[in-house]
Amino acid sequence: MHQMTLAEIARGLADKKFSSEELTKVLLARIAQLDPQLNSFISLTEDLALQQAKAADVRRANGESGALLGAPIAHKDLFCTQGIRTSCGSKMLDNFKAPYDATVVAKLAAAGAVTLGKTNMDEFAMGSANESSYYGAVKNPWNLEHVPGGSSGGSAAAVAARLLPAATATDTGGSIRQPAAFTNLTGLKPTYGRVSRWGMIAYASSLDQGGPLARTAEDCAILLQGMAGFDANDSTSIDEPVPDYSASLSTSLQGLRIGVPKEYFSAGLDPRIAELIHNSVKELEKLGAVIKEISLPNMQHAIPAYYVIAPAEASSNLSRFDGVRFGHRCEDPKSLEDLYKRSRGEGFGAEVQRRIMVGAYALSAGYYDAYYLKAQKIRRLVKNDFMAAFNEVDIILGPTTPNPAWKLGAKNSDPVAAYLEDVYTITANLAGLPGLSMPAGFVDGLPVGVQLLAPYFQEGRLLNVAHQYQLNTDWHTRTPTGF
Ligand code: GLN
Repeated sequence: MHQMTLAEIARGLADKKFSSEELTKVLLARIAQLDPQLNSFISLTEDLALQQAKAADVRRANGESGALLGAPIAHKDLFCTQGIRTSCGSKMLDNFKAPYDATVVAKLAAAGAVTLGKTNMDEFAMGSANESSYYGAVKNPWNLEHVPGGSSGGSAAAVAARLLPAATATDTGGSIRQPAAFTNLTGLKPTYGRVSRWGMIAYASSLDQGGPLARTAEDCAILLQGMAGFDANDSTSIDEPVPDYSASLSTSLQGLRIGVPKEYFSAGLDPRIAELIHNSVKELEKLGAVIKEISLPNMQHAIPAYYVIAPAEASSNLSRFDGVRFGHRCEDPKSLEDLYKRSRGEGFGAEVQRRIMVGAYALSAGYYDAYYLKAQKIRRLVKNDFMAAFNEVDIILGPTTPNPAWKLGAKNSDPVAAYLEDVYTITANLAGLPGLSMPAGFVDGLPVGVQLLAPYFQEGRLLNVAHQYQLNTDWHTRTPTGF
C-alpha cells in the first residue's frame, strides 16, 4: 500500500479498494517503524489523521469525490497548524502551538487531505542539508550517511522512503527542488504569489514560496491544485485563475523550445551530473522538443545577491522572536536587554544567528547602498536575463544541483561551501519564476535531479514536460533499499 502514488490512492479510494482510515493506519505504523532511522518528522498527529481519514471516508460514502479526499500528506513544520506545535525546526518555537491554520493547511484540509504530521526542516528554513534543525539532522533514505538536502529535508526523506505519498514544502532559494534532487523526487516551486504565504512562518518574504514534493509530476499537479489560489490574507498573493494542472499533463512536447544555458556547464558542475543532464535533453528531443543554447550572463552574481537579500529579510522577519511577542523566553531576566539577548541567544541556533548578523549589517545605514541596494540591482539583472531568454525558448533546462547529496557533517565548518551548492536554484527565487526538479539518474547510488524553469504562472507547462519525461523514463520509480 505504501508504494502507491497520490493518483493511485485516489483511484483506489474511488474504487473502494480500501478506505482512507485503513491506508492512514498502514502509513502511521510504517512511520513508527522506519522513521527513527530518518528523523523526518518533528511531530506526528495520529489522532487528527484518523479523525480526518474517517471524515473523508464518510464524505466519499456520501458521494463526494476529489483527488485529495482521504489522501495522506504531511506539512513542513513552518506551516501553522491550529493547536499543533509549529516549531520551524527551532528551539525558539519548540513550545509554539499556532492559533490558526495556514491557508495552505486549511485549503488542503478542506479538500479532504489527511495530515499525518509535521516534517523536520532546517531551522527557520535556512540551509541546504537539514542539519541545522533543533530536532537533529534528517538522513537521506538513499544512503543514511548522507544529507537529504534542505531546508525541506524532512518532507523529502519521508516521501522518498514511502512513509507517505506527498508533502508540502517551501522554497526560498531551492528548498523544494534541491531536496527533491537529493532524494529522487519531483518538487515544484510555484511562481511567487501563486501559493498563499499566510501562516507560513517567514524566512525571506520576497523569496519564500510553498509548493508540493511528491514522487511524480502527476502527484505534484494534484497537490499544487489543492495549494494554489488567490488569498486576500497575503498581500503578495496574485489573483490569477488556477488552471487544471492535471489536464495540462498530456500535452505533446512536439516543437517545445528548450533552452540550455551555457553558463550551467562550468567547472563547478560534477561531470557525471552533466552527462545525466545531457541524457535528459536527448530524451526530451526524442519526444519532439527542440534544443537551443542560451545565455544567462548574470548568473554568477546570483549567489552573493541572494546571500545579502535573504539574510536582510530574515533579520527583519526574525525580530519578532524576542521572548516577549513570540518565542522562547530565558529564565529569570535581569533587565529588558538581558531578556532579549539571552532569549534570542538561547532560542536561535548558529546558522540563524549568523544570518541575522549578516542581514542586520547589510541593512545598516553605512552599508545599505553597498550591499542591500546593490543586491537588489543584481536581482533585477537576473530577472532581465530570464525575460530575454524566454523570448527565445519555452522552458529552461539544467542541473538542479552541482553535486549529489554530501555526507552528513561534510560542510558544517564551512557555510559558504553549502551556499555555493544553491547556484542553480536561487535565480528562480530572485526572479519569482516557477521551477521544478525531477529525477534524472544516479551517481554513486545517489539521485540526481534535472531542473526545469518556465515563465510566470506556467506551472502547468513544467508539470507537462516532467510528466511526459516520466512516461518515458523510470528514474522516478526507483525505491531506496530498505524502504
Ligand atoms: N539553501 C538556501 C538557504 O539556505 C535556500 C533555503 C530555502 O530555500 N529555504 O537560504
